[in-house]
Amino acid sequence: MTSALLPTYARYQLAFERGEGAWLYTASGDKYLDFGGGIAVASLGYNHPHLVQALKEQADKLWHTSNLFQIPLGETLARRLTEATFADQVFFTNSGAEALELTIKMARKWNSANGAPDRYHMITFEGAFHGRTLATIAAGGNPKYLDGFGPRTPGFDQVPFGDLKAAEAAIGPQTGAILVEPIQGEGGVRVGSPEFIRGLRALCDRHNMLLCFDEVQSGVGRTGKLFAYELYGVAPDILASAKGIGGGFPLGAVLSTAEAGKGMGLGTHGTTYGGNPLAMACGNAVLDVVLAPGFLDDVARRGLLLRQSLAGLAAEHRDVVAEIRGEGLMQGLRLRVPNADFAAAARAEKIIVIPAADNVVRILPPLIVSDDEIREGIRRLGAACRHFGIAAAQEDKQGADT
Ligand SMILES: *Cc1c(COP(=O)(O)O)cnc(C)c1O
Repeated sequence: MTSALLPTYARYQLAFERGEGAWLYTASGDKYLDFGGGIAVASLGYNHPHLVQALKEQADKLWHTSNLFQIPLGETLARRLTEATFADQVFFTNSGAEALELTIKMARKWNSANGAPDRYHMITFEGAFHGRTLATIAAGGNPKYLDGFGPRTPGFDQVPFGDLKAAEAAIGPQTGAILVEPIQGEGGVRVGSPEFIRGLRALCDRHNMLLCFDEVQSGVGRTGKLFAYELYGVAPDILASAKGIGGGFPLGAVLSTAEAGKGMGLGTHGTTYGGNPLAMACGNAVLDVVLAPGFLDDVARRGLLLRQSLAGLAAEHRDVVAEIRGEGLMQGLRLRVPNADFAAAARAEKIIVIPAADNVVRILPPLIVSDDEIREGIRRLGAACRHFGIAAAQEDKQGADT
């Protein structure tokens, strides 16, 4: 039977009924090791007792009141986020794209509040992904996502990722901000170099522009830091977060300095659902775990184990793996075989990885993944590699010999 869903996704013939930790289970009991984490969303894995309890307790009390009222759990979560970061204030959204929409609006409003409403342009980068709304597809600049949707929202000037000189050359009288993922996710786990990211900060300072980081994928512990900007030793003026921040409950956030947010006064922005009590209960529960003493250091340690294990895998399967890149538990394998085929081979070995641009598969396990699960994942990825090319031929030959 055909699906009643709008057919925008080529879905796998696979459905899950429940999850536990880093594992997903089908209705017939098949068990998959999830190294995709629902695209970097399931930060605490599945059925995490603390997160489940927080959601259930809040579900018994109150789901939604609207932002006409005080939401104490939201005050708490915002306070915790500002205390842990560069930011002075937070706005909660339901998704990454909405967080990016506000990021763009805030940067424009700041320039306008400075008496320069014409400086609404932003420099963005090739390979970027910022969401699927009209403004965020213009910011991302992927022609596939723009085609047929009418005039491209103006105000985004795109240059190659990593090219500081090109970014500088693109600055014109209308440029008021730079928007960048310090580590590109959908673009293929491309890690911005320290010179590049720090150079962008310097450009913004020199030209009185706002630096905006899209950390929807790289944030909330993914890299072993609460946010990836900490790896670079420079802070943005505005930061968009989502994905892992709700642990699977739809939640996004825009963090900003008071200065960057100074144009966003009463009535300048809003959302019906954003920051509702259910989302705030989940956001606080995620932070309880991620900010617990030692947790992020241990993510960094396990990230290193993952990275080293992947290096071993790549050395063994040079015919399949061309390059490893990433930080912490955000790793990518650039492949010599089609990434969709590799992801299918991985699924056949009962491990989930996620295709990205540049013929990469992303490896984004839940932040609670254990050392043993990392080793088991590497074993399964090795088995997936053996579905291809020379290694497969060798294995067949060995099989025939013995
Ligand atoms: C996923 C993602 C978005 C969009 O988030 P949605 O919740 O799908 O709207 C934006 N930026 C980055 C870097 C992302 O990875």
